[in-house]
Amino acid sequence: MAKISMKTPLVEMDGDEMTRIIWQQIKDIVICPFVDLKTEYYDLGLVNRDKTDDQVTIDSANRTKELGVAVKCATITPNAQRMTEYNLKEMWKSPNGTIRAMLDGTVFRAPILVKGITPFVSCWKKPITIARHAYGDVYKNSELRVEGAAKAELVVTYPDGRKETKVIHEFDGPGIIQGLHNTDKSITSFARACFTYALDIKQDLWFATKDTISKTYDHRFKDIFAEVYENEFKAKFEEAGIEYFYTLIDDVVARIMRNEGGILWACKNYDGDVMSDMLASANGSLAMMTSVLVSPNGVYEYEAAHGTVTRHYYKYLKGEATSTNPMATIFAWSGALRKRAQMDELPDLEDFADRLEKASIQTIEEGTITGDLKNLIDIPEKNVVNTEEFLKAIAAKL
Ligand code: NAP
Ligand code: MG
Repeated sequence: MAKISMKTPLVEMDGDEMTRIIWQQIKDIVICPFVDLKTEYYDLGLVNRDKTDDQVTIDSANRTKELGVAVKCATITPNAQRMTEYNLKEMWKSPNGTIRAMLDGTVFRAPILVKGITPFVSCWKKPITIARHAYGDVYKNSELRVEGAAKAELVVTYPDGRKETKVIHEFDGPGIIQGLHNTDKSITSFARACFTYALDIKQDLWFATKDTISKTYDHRFKDIFAEVYENEFKAKFEEAGIEYFYTLIDDVVARIMRNEGGILWACKNYDGDVMSDMLASANGSLAMMTSVLVSPNGVYEYEAAHGTVTRHYYKYLKGEATSTNPMATIFAWSGALRKRAQMDELPDLEDFADRLEKASIQTIEEGTITGDLKNLIDIPEKNVVNTEEFLKAIAAKL
């Protein structure tokens, strides 16, 4: 059988621990036998990040901007314990944070749905994708404890010395205050990334804030989304037959619970933090959540939503068999291959990406599963296998 060929290479970002092992197995077992895989390899494993003073992360992000599509393995974000474990020169920043900042990107997360794993919300038939604005608001706040009677004010000082002030509260006893900010630039990038991705997956985009209460702050989000939509995306949305819908955050929550899914839900930073955890738990398993970073100008980086599955890796190092679920990482590869295929107009490659996803889902639905799904899936016969056997079952279907 002739292998499917590629034109432009993917930027391949390798990672750490159990997911690094799975990364190689996925390539060996379900991709390379079928595709003449072309990648530009960057080793973002912690050892090499330390060796290169994290330059490898920056290089990989820059190359992604040039080539347009990357696929990333989960990586360790070092903490104090990792400093000792890996004898690190520095507590390097999270690669995801670095890449997201360099691409000015927004993260979209969606569950992989299979028959037998029913979401807790029974009307959800299609995946709901959540986009979280990853800048500002309460995550970059300034807070103060007010010790007693006091007047608290907001003060803005412009470069020419002009000042604007507004009273927050006249305290007659102790309390607390908090200052939040966001920027037009960041909100605009977020809006563009959301509209771009909605067009990409051909799903309606919902966005919600609390603009009835926050008449300047949240209202600015609403206005920017409306402006970007009118000026840059309205015609494209009409052509694609999809809708942009704005409402209040409480209204959207009520609607989501009655909806069958298949929508893209854009959230402000805090809403996205909370709602993406709700969505992940309602769908069962972190191992079945995909994640893609999209820049406002249409650069894509695909990955799994979970981490490096450290606990399984330590067992693997002791020679014990592990049954780590590779689904989200497989879907990172299929997502990246499909996007590359669409950009390079390679229908065979696009078809392969579809078939890889279908074969993976079918393998689970027919009862061959990894350990994490054992108590989650409701099917008559369950055959729990290790990661390699699971991948071989998918390859057999392919
Ligand atoms: P994690 O790797 O997502 O794992 C947490 C637990 O979730 C695992 O111990 C496992 O539960 C379960 N799990 C996650 N993915 C699974 C899979 N594919 N198959 C089966 N079970 C799975 O999170 P963590 O342990 O908090 O973090 C480990 C490392 O990952 C940290 O160094 C962190 O910095 C890094 N991290 C990286 C990313 C990223 O690169 N995007 C994201 C998050 C975390 P059981 O142990 O009960 O089986
Ligand atoms: Mg959270």
